[in-house]
Formats: sequence, structure tokens, C-alpha cells
Amino acid sequence: MYISKSFIPILKNIPSEAKIKSHRLMLRVGMIKQSSAGIYSWLPLGFRVMKKIEKIVREEQNKIGAQEILMPTIQSSDIWKESGRYEDYGEEMLRIKDRQNREMLYGPTNEELVTDIFRSAIKSYKSLPQLLYHIQWKFRDEIRPRFGIMRCREFYMKDAYSFDINDEEAFFSYNKFFLSYLNTFKRLELIAIPMAADTGPIGGNLSHEFIILAETGESKIFTDKRIFDVNSDGTKLEKKSLENLRKKYEQFYSVTDEKFDKKEFEKKVSESNQLITKGIEVGHIFYFGDKYSKPMGASVDLPGGKKDFVKMGSYGIGVSRLVGAIIEARYDEKKEIMKWPISVAPYDVSIIPIINKNDTSALNIANNINIELEKNNIETIIDDTDENFSSKIKKMDLIGSPFQIIIGKQTDGDLLEFKEIGKESQKLKLKDIVNIIKKQKEKN
Ligand code: ATP
Ligand code: MG
Repeated sequence: MYISKSFIPILKNIPSEAKIKSHRLMLRVGMIKQSSAGIYSWLPLGFRVMKKIEKIVREEQNKIGAQEILMPTIQSSDIWKESGRYEDYGEEMLRIKDRQNREMLYGPTNEELVTDIFRSAIKSYKSLPQLLYHIQWKFRDEIRPRFGIMRCREFYMKDAYSFDINDEEAFFSYNKFFLSYLNTFKRLELIAIPMAADTGPIGGNLSHEFIILAETGESKIFTDKRIFDVNSDGTKLEKKSLENLRKKYEQFYSVTDEKFDKKEFEKKVSESNQLITKGIEVGHIFYFGDKYSKPMGASVDLPGGKKDFVKMGSYGIGVSRLVGAIIEARYDEKKEIMKWPISVAPYDVSIIPIINKNDTSALNIANNINIELEKNNIETIIDDTDENFSSKIKKMDLIGSPFQIIIGKQTDGDLLEFKEIGKESQKLKLKDIVNIIKKQKEKN
């Protein structure tokens, strides 16, 4: 992609209305554009990142055996009246009427709709477990939309739902999602810590929030530092192995402020291990048993001939919020350098030819390099403008491809100036550059 032909509206000045760095960067490099309070359009650069995050989220859902569906954004109020949440949900729910004067709503979440789908088809324990998910826009009329796409009104979420025959099986499903979340965030190169959480309007009794540390986060967290050393290596998709994984995390006190108990914290965590800080919630999982299946009559036949309501859990990931969360974690605002993880970078490489008027040789070299890179499925963006070197670098540092190839005075025969963004450059042959980038991409 040539910069001159791209739709990447870069701002010269840092937008003053944005309060956190991810919002500032996203506006500055034209990843999003606000259309009204808390509602955004996604422009090509932002959209590319979000779609790559979505792909990773999807792959990790599929790996645990979850099946993808797509439910609509607009729902009928009837099912919400059945579950009893139509009144409870309050003003965050956007309620609308159609031309027949029917009460509809823009879905803030989908427990009711998925339960309705489930009950219409599944009648026997033999079809369990069922793990269903979709990736769809949600609307919540947040009282204070802010921080760009971090807390907005319309946002993109992966939400999954599990249906099981009893508690034991339901915990097995819960733990599968627990693992899949750790794996998802690892692929996004984020350190996300599972923390015991409150269940809020979703209801229920077992819940974890996945939080990444960030000063600008809205969640206050109280944690034992040792939890950062826990990892999921070697965990298998089996009951015992997954139980052990959760135990490994749960042995360390780690909660958000709704669950915080000062006495317990001080008793369980030595002073030197105490960490009180802030974080961004990127995922949230809940177990709530028959909270929805009972009022909505979602039951299955059991082995002995009896019937019982299915046990359910729900599992959300803020796909659009993750774009901002990754920026919060990785953008060096002082140096004005963003380095995307290669798994979600809008482009893998920025090609930066230094173009003097009437001399297109550097651009020709760039074009040839580009052909070779594209053959190897490496995605590129080429700055084909005749701006000066420092403003080109500045722009590419903000766009944040993890690698840069600079074509100018330093280019000497076969050897190209190549650098990992933010690091020193080195002179390498194109063949070696291709190998380095391909290796990095394969790791993901
Ligand atoms: P929060 O406490 O941040 O309001 P929540 O507990 O209401 O989140 P869930 O209902 O569990 O969120 O939604 C699942 C995920 O969707 C959250 O972990 C978060 O990443 C994302 N999310 C929730 N609300 C918003 C929002 N207003 N804007 C962007 N993403 C959101
Ligand atoms: Mg909320």
C-alpha cells in the first residue's frame, strides 16, 4: 500500500480532547473517527488491527471446541422479560420501538438470545456440552463514555456461552475458557492476569476478570506480585490439568476493588509482595448456573429420565477495547514510537524510500522489494511521498509496523538498511530480511 493512496488521515498536532495515550494515538494516525458521543467509525488502519485481533480470538475459541454463530444486534424485549432482566438492566440498555410499536432493544449482551436458541434445539444431555460464541457489536448507553474506544457506547465483543449438565461439567467448560483467554492474550503479547471479580448485572457466583496493568486503567486492583510468574505452559484440555491451572493462579490473592478486603489482603500477602495498581479489563468470564435457564425453561433430559435446567456460563472479550489496551501497553509516547505485536500489526514492514525530486531510483528499489515481500505474504506500506526523511520516519514510527526498511544513502548494492522499530538499524540482504520477518510471523 502506498501512503499517498492510503486512507490514513494523520494529524500534525496531538488532539487535546483525548485524555489517554491510546486515544491520542488512534486519533493522530487516523485509526478511528468519532461519529457521535461514544460511537466511532473504524478507518483502515484501526480496522486492520481490530480484524487481526478478532482472528486470534476466533482461533482460540475454536481450539477449545466452541462453535461460532452470529446473533443479531437488535433483540426483542420479550426474552428479556422472561429472564426478568428487562427492568433490572437499567439505562445502559438502548430501548427502541419498531413501526408496529413492538419493544426492541440493541443488545448489550446475549444471555437471553442464546438461551432461546439453545432451548429450541437441544433436548438431551447427550448433546452437551455446547459452547457457542459470536463476535458482534454491542451497545451500552454508558453514563460516561470516554477514553475513545476503551469505554464507548457501541463496541465489538466476543461473547461465548456454555451449556452443561451439572456443576462439575460446567466448571470444566469454565476452565476451558480460562485457558483459552490466557492463550489469546499471550498471542497478543499482553500480560493479562485473571482476578476474582464481582458478577454485576450478569449475576452468578464464580467470575474472573482478565486485567492488564496500565496506569490509565479504570479498574483498581490488589494483587500478590507472584501471580506474574504463573504461566499456563503445558496445560492440557483435560479436567484435572485445567483445574490445576486455575489453582496455580488462585493461590495468589488477586482481586479488583469490588472484591477487595483489606484484612484478607494483608493477611495473605506479605508487604513486599503487595501490589496495588490499576488495570484495564480486557475479558470477563462468569459462571451463573441456572440463572437464565430456569426462568426461560431451558432444560434437558437426564440419563435416568428426569429433566433439569442446564448450567450456564458466559465469557466476554472486548475485541475493540483490546486495540486501545495494546496501545496503552506498548506505545512509547515520549519517543512517539508505537510497536505493534507482529500478530496484529496493520502492516509488517514500512518501506521508506528517500525520494529526491526527479529521481525515482529509490522508489523503484522500494517497488522491487515490495514484490518480493508480498510473494512471501509479508504486508507492507510504502511511503512514496517526497517528504523529508525525518518526517517520514516520524509517521512510520506512529503507524507502528514492527519493521522498517530504509532506502537512501545507506543502501549499498545488495545490502539494505533494516531495523526493528525503535532499535538500531543493520545492513542486510533482502533474503535475510524476509527470513527474519517470516520467523517472527510464524511464532504467532
Ligand atoms: P466494565 O466493567 O469495563 O464496564 P463489564 O464488566 O461491563 O466491563 P462485560 O459485560 O463482562 O464487561 O463485557 C465483556 C468485555 O467487553 C469487557 O471485559 C470489556 O473488555 C468489554 N467492554 C465492556 N464494556 C465496554 C465498553 N463500554 N466499551 C468497550 N469495551 C467494553
Ligand atoms: Mg460495564
